[in-house]
Amino acid sequence: MKSSFYLGGQFALSAHTPRSAAPLRSAASLRGNRSYRGRSSVIKTNGFIGNIAYFCIMNLEFYKNQAVLKQKEHQKILETLKKRPPKNLDYIVQETHEEVFEKIDCLQCANCCKTTGPLFTEKDIERISRHLRLKPADFEAKYLRTDEDRDKVLQNLPCWFLNVDNTCSIYEVRPKACREFPHTDRKKIYQINHLTIKNTLICPAAFEFVERIQKNLEKK
Ligand code: SF4
Ligand code: SF4
Repeated sequence: MKSSFYLGGQFALSAHTPRSAAPLRSAASLRGNRSYRGRSSVIKTNGFIGNIAYFCIMNLEFYKNQAVLKQKEHQKILETLKKRPPKNLDYIVQETHEEVFEKIDCLQCANCCKTTGPLFTEKDIERISRHLRLKPADFEAKYLRTDEDRDKVLQNLPCWFLNVDNTCSIYEVRPKACREFPHTDRKKIYQINHLTIKNTLICPAAFEFVERIQKNLEKK
């Protein structure tokens, strides 16, 4: 089953316990610099984003169930963006994305690192190999496989580079797909409606994004 971690990704299963001495930073924050906003060293109290409760430890099962229940409703919302995109859509998307990641703490989640994996481009492989002081071929042999679409993806999940505290051991050099996930700050976002819908099933931020975008559009 293809995921939407990147624009064309791969699921896999297995359990690795990632360990690395590399410097840590925001982790699961595939989602780029912005997604890391909610990090906190103190335990959060329960709260609400939109209609959905979030907890100090993200209630992923709850999010997933809600996303399944709301698939059709969400599809409609995204379809509207495609059929009648407002002039300032990119601005509203960016604003909504920012709002979501002010509330969502990827370090309490890391579901994307645990359940899907990024596609590794040649540039990613070169950069990460250099960082790990490995030859690209050795890096590939150790961590990657080629999937049915000839994409380079992780051999196993959770991602080998995910630390137990949900930080990413290769944060500074992580794959482009990790930086961009869940693509909720993308211009002309309606072009990836099919991926956004898929992402709502694994990513609380993507779910919240779709929940909020309609309200934000109505306000404008
Ligand atoms: S699944 Fe979404 S909310 Fe969870 S860590 Fe990944 S980007 Fe953040
Ligand atoms: S490299 Fe692995 S741990 Fe790091 S952000 Fe990407 S999927 Fe997560």
